Amino acid sequence: MHEYPITERIVQVACREAASHGQRKVRAIDLVVGDDAGYVGDTIQLYFDLIAENTLCAGAVLKIRHIRPQLQCPACGLHFERRPFTFACPTCGVNGHPTAIGKEFYIESLTLEPAGPAGSDPWRIDHVPI
Ligand SMILES: [Zn+2]
Repeated sequence: MHEYPITERIVQVACREAASHGQRKVRAIDLVVGDDAGYVGDTIQLYFDLIAENTLCAGAVLKIRHIRPQLQCPACGLHFERRPFTFACPTCGVNGHPTAIGKEFYIESLTLEPAGPAGSDPWRIDHVPI
């Protein structure tokens, strides 16, 4: 259940950004979650609306992009997704080593409501670390 505190953290970080850009409401949060990051995306999604209530994130759409982990072959350098029951490189058969791919956990982009009159462009902030 460690998704609850991390979801609180996501809301906190997004609200801080929104507050520093003129207290605008958050419209959307695009989150990147590697499958090896240690967090279950579906559970974060579940907690989000509840935690976002009565904050600048209330009503925001949380979108989660999952990244599948990849291994790298020490012999030929190939990056590949692990298949069930084996770490072997599909090209040369040598066991791959873990990489950072699949451990990502950050806000890819944050969309705030426009500062101007209705119809103006929403504000986007890219790559917010959590
Ligand atoms: Zn290889």
